[in-house]
Amino acid sequence: MKKIMITFPHADDVTINLGGLVRQWSNAGHEVYLVRITDDDADCAGIPTREEAIRINREEAEQAYSIIGAKKVIHLGYTSDTFGGIDFLGLREKIIKLLRQIKPNTSITFAMDGREEENMDHRITAYAVAEAHWTASFDLHHPEQFKGGLKPFCVGERLYFARVPEDNYGIFDVTDVMDTKIKAILSHKTVMKNYALQLKMRAQVLGLDTSFFNNNEQDVIIEKYMRKRFSGKDIPGSYEAIERLHNPSAGLDLLKYFK
Ligand SMILES: [Zn+2]
Repeated sequence: MKKIMITFPHADDVTINLGGLVRQWSNAGHEVYLVRITDDDADCAGIPTREEAIRINREEAEQAYSIIGAKKVIHLGYTSDTFGGIDFLGLREKIIKLLRQIKPNTSITFAMDGREEENMDHRITAYAVAEAHWTASFDLHHPEQFKGGLKPFCVGERLYFARVPEDNYGIFDVTDVMDTKIKAILSHKTVMKNYALQLKMRAQVLGLDTSFFNNNEQDVIIEKYMRKRFSGKDIPGSYEAIERLHNPSAGLDLLKYFK
């Protein structure tokens, strides 16, 4: 049994990018801990207040995470879409503490070099978690955390995902759990409403035919989009559905010097 900790800013990040793998890991008996950094207070359309958006998005996220089989969910409650001005070291400190508490065999987050990544929440999360992976093992970084019994901890396996993965990312077949993943994604009803609306607005500005958006329910639009986005039909293996993760060899290469 492995402990896997996945850290991400927004409710749907893990469901969309890794929902299939989380379900497979959970089926195999591994424990998956999800760390959701923001409260998604603005990711909605037509909800009058941020308080209401926070409440609904949290409920829908809990539902989605239970469908993919997460063991535990930690909500850090940061304001979404503000990481450009965040207290970086404050965020890193919280992640160091979680790593020392959970002691995961594997830690996963956004890739630092994600191609075409225009979301600062994703970028800053990537850097804060990657730096916490090794600073959590320094006994002079946040020694106050040791008073309660925590100890320095160094993450062994560090994996990264991206919205637009590089070619050197590993390919994982998630065909057997794709229907479950779609169900989980559709549970983020409020976030997906905003997602579909953005797709439609972009298509309109580009002068594309948007009749598909007018003629179909939100769930149909999102399902079609996600199945296409995670299709592996055009790559070696020809899987129905795939997810991709990067496992940089840097660091682990060192082990060969001890042989
Ligand atoms: Zn996101």
